[in-house]
Amino acid sequence: MSEAGNNQHTSITPEVDAVVVGAGFGGMYMAHLLRARRLTVQGFERGGGVGGTWYWNRYPGCRCDVESMEYSYQFSPELQQDWEWSERYSAQPEILAYAEHVAQRFDIESMFQFNTAVSGAAYEDEHHRWRVTTEQGDEVTARFVIMATGCLSTANMPDFEGVNEFSGATYHTGAWPHDGVDFSGKRVAVIGTGSSAIQSIPLIAQQAASLTVFQRTPNYSIPAQNRPIDQSMVADIKANYDNFRARNKLQQAAFGADYPRNMDSVLEATPEERQRRFEEHWNYGGFMFMGAFADLGLNPEANEYAAEFVRNKIRGIVQDPATAELLCPKTVIGCKRLCADTGYFETYNRDNVSLVDVSEHPIERLTPSGLVTNGNEYKFDAIVFATGFDAMTGTLLAMDIKGQGGRRLTDKWSAGPRTYLGLMTVGFPNLFMMTGPGSPSVLANMITGVEQHADYIDAMLAWAAEQGITEITPQQDAEDEWVEVVNMRSQATLYPSCNSWYLGANVPGKPRVFMPYIGFPDYVTRLDEIRAASYEGFATA
Ligand code: FAD
Ligand code: NAP
Repeated sequence: MSEAGNNQHTSITPEVDAVVVGAGFGGMYMAHLLRARRLTVQGFERGGGVGGTWYWNRYPGCRCDVESMEYSYQFSPELQQDWEWSERYSAQPEILAYAEHVAQRFDIESMFQFNTAVSGAAYEDEHHRWRVTTEQGDEVTARFVIMATGCLSTANMPDFEGVNEFSGATYHTGAWPHDGVDFSGKRVAVIGTGSSAIQSIPLIAQQAASLTVFQRTPNYSIPAQNRPIDQSMVADIKANYDNFRARNKLQQAAFGADYPRNMDSVLEATPEERQRRFEEHWNYGGFMFMGAFADLGLNPEANEYAAEFVRNKIRGIVQDPATAELLCPKTVIGCKRLCADTGYFETYNRDNVSLVDVSEHPIERLTPSGLVTNGNEYKFDAIVFATGFDAMTGTLLAMDIKGQGGRRLTDKWSAGPRTYLGLMTVGFPNLFMMTGPGSPSVLANMITGVEQHADYIDAMLAWAAEQGITEITPQQDAEDEWVEVVNMRSQATLYPSCNSWYLGANVPGKPRVFMPYIGFPDYVTRLDEIRAASYEGFATA
C-alpha cells in the first residue's frame, strides 16, 4: 500500500451495519470478520495506513517484547505458515510490513477511510443507530460501532510550561517521523525511562553528540537476548502451530507456554539455588525472568529477591556507582510493565551519556534552548518525549461519545472506566470496545487478545441477527459486579503497589483505577460461559 494513495479523502458509505474505528491489528481483523458475515462496514483510521501501534511508533529500537512466533495473528493457518520472521523479537519495520501484508492479502484497506479521525459518536434512541462523525466532516450512521482504537494510542505529553518555546526539534516516541531522525552531532534529551525510552536510548546514544536522560522513576529491564530467529524452533512450531497457540492461550498472559517457568517458591530455595535460577532466567531474557519462581508477582518478600538480583546486575554493569544507584528501581519488580532491552544499562558507561534524576525536582519548564530542572538549565538541539500514553481510556474519552439520552462517556467514566467484560458499557448500546478496560488487554499478548475479542463480538452479532435483536447493552448489575471482579483480582497481586499506567497514575488528574483484568484463561472461560448462557448479563431489545 502506498501511503500517498491513502491521503485522498475518498467517499464513504453513509449508512452501514457497522463502523470500525482504528486499523491496527484489532480493527483489521474485526472488519475482515464483519465483512465475511456480509455486514456493510465503514472503517476509519486517523493514520495514513494500517498497523496502529506499529504505524505510529517508529522510534529507533522499537520492537515487540513478546516473541515473534507468538506476536502474530492466528486466524489464518495459511498466513501463519507463510510469514517468515527474521528475529526472535521483530523490529517495528518488520511488524508494520506484516500488518501491510495482511491488509493486502485479505483486502482490508478497501473497508477503511485513512487520514480520518473519528471525533464523535452519538446514539439515536429512536432509530437504535449510531451517528459517527469525523474531524474531516464525514457523517455515517451504523447499527454497531466497534472501537478498535487501541490501549496505547494517545500520547501522554507533559504539560510543561514553555513547551512551545523550545527552538529545537521535539519528538514523541509514539508519533515518530516516518523518515526517521538523524541525531548526528546533536545534543539530545530523552525524557522518560519506560519501555520506549529503554529501547531507543542505546541507539540514540550511538548517534548523538551527547545524550541526557531525564529519569523520574527507574525501571527494571531484563536483556531481551534478541537474535536471529532459530529456524529449527520455527520448523517445530509450524509443524503444529495450532497446538502451540492453544498452549499459549492457557498461560496467564496468553504467551510463553514453552518458556522455562517454575512452580516453586523463592522463599524455600537456598541462596545458591536462587542465584542459579535468576541467572538462568536473566540469560533466557525478557519477561520470563519472572518465571524463575512461582511467587514473585504475589508476595513482596519473594519479589524483593528478584528485585535485588536485578539491582545487583545494574550495579555490575554500570561503572559509575552513583549512576548505577540512581538506575536501581526501588519498587516491586513487575509492578510497572517489565522492560526488555538491548544494551540499555551499558549505555550509561558511554562518555556522551548522562543521567539526571528528576524524581525530587521535576522538570520545571522548557526554554528556547533547553529545559530547566532544580534551577539548572540544560541546553539541547532535540528533546525526545518518551513519556508514554494516556493508556486504555485516553483514546476513547478523546472522542465525544454520547449514549442513550445523550449521556457522555466522559461523564459516565469521570471516576474511572466501568464496563461489562471490557467489551461494553451500560447506556451505550451496540457500542463495543476491543481490549477495553476490564479485559486482559495490556496484560496479555495483545494480538491474541484482539482476535479473541473480535471473534466474540462477531459471534454476538451473529446471535443477535438470528434472534432478531437490534439492541444489546449490558445490565447494570452485571457491569457493577464485573468492575468489582476486576478490582478484586488486582488486589490479590502486587500491581496496585506502584504508580503505573495500568492504574492511570502517569497522567495528572486521571482517576486511579486498576484497568486491566488479570488472567487471560479465566477471562476466556468466563466469556465462553456467558455465551453458553445466551449472553447472560446483557439486555437485548
Ligand atoms: P492500535 O495498534 O493502537 O491501533 C488503534 C488504531 O486506532 C490506531 O491506528 C489509531 O490511529 C486508531 N485510532 C484511535 N483513535 C482514533 C480515532 N478517533 N479515529 C480514527 N482512528 C483512531 N503488545 C504485545 O502484546 N506485545 C508487544 O510486544 C507489544 N509491543 C508494543 C510496543 C510498543 C512501542 C507499543 C506502544 C505497544 C506495544 N504493544 C505490545 C501493545 C500494542 O498496542 C498491541 O500489541 C497492538 O498493536 C494493539 O492493536 P490495536 O489494534 O488494539 O490498537
Ligand atoms: P511509559 O512506560 O509510561 O514510560 C513513560 C516514562 O516517561 C516513564 O519513565 C515516566 O516516568 C516518564 N514521564 C512521564 N511524564 C513525565 C514527566 N512529566 N516528567 C518526567 N518523566 C515523565 O511509556 P512507554 O515507555 O511509551 O511504554 C508504554 C507501554 O507501551 C509499555 O509499558 C508497553 O506496554 C508498551 N511498549 C512496549 C514496548 C516493547 O518492548 N515491546 C516498547 C514500548 C512500549 P514515571 O514512571 O515516573 O511515570
